[in-house]
Amino acid sequence: MLTLSNKNLAIISACVIGVKCRYNGKDSLSKYLNIYKEKYILIPICPEQLAGFPTPRLKCEIEKGNGFDVIEGKSKILNERGLDVTEKFIKGANEVLYICKTFGIDLAFFKEKSPSCGVSKIYNNGKLCNGCGVTTALLLKNNIKVFGIE
Ligand code: SF4
Repeated sequence: MLTLSNKNLAIISACVIGVKCRYNGKDSLSKYLNIYKEKYILIPICPEQLAGFPTPRLKCEIEKGNGFDVIEGKSKILNERGLDVTEKFIKGANEVLYICKTFGIDLAFFKEKSPSCGVSKIYNNGKLCNGCGVTTALLLKNNIKVFGIE
C-alpha cells in the first residue's frame, strides 16, 4: 500500500539498489543503501537501459575528457568494438532529465566510474580518470545535484 511520506525524492542508479542492469549483467549493490533509504524516496533509473541498450551489453567508455565534453560535441563514447554510441548515451541522459523535471527531482545518487553515471571518476581508454559521465553532466547543467556512490 502506498503511504504518504515527508521524505524528499531522489533518483539513484538502479544497479546500486541491486538491479542487474550493468553492462556485464551484474549489479553494484551498495552496502550503504539503507542510509539513503532512511532519508529519501529513491527512484531507481538506469540511463543506459533508458537509452535502449540491451543488458548485458558491450562495455563503453568516453574517448577523452568527460561527460560535458561529450554533450558539447568535443568527445565521443565508443563501445569496446570502437563503434560510436554517443547519440544513444545522450538519449539516455535526456530521458533521465525528463524524469527529474516531470517529478520535480533535484537530487541524484549515482554510481561512480560509469560513462553515464560517474560523478568524479570515469574511464578514458581503459584508464581511470577524474571526471563525470554524460548523464551526470546533463543533470548538473540543469541544476540537479549529483553525488557519487563508490
Ligand atoms: S548506466 Fe548507471 S544505473 Fe545503469 S548500470 Fe551503469 S552505472 Fe548502473
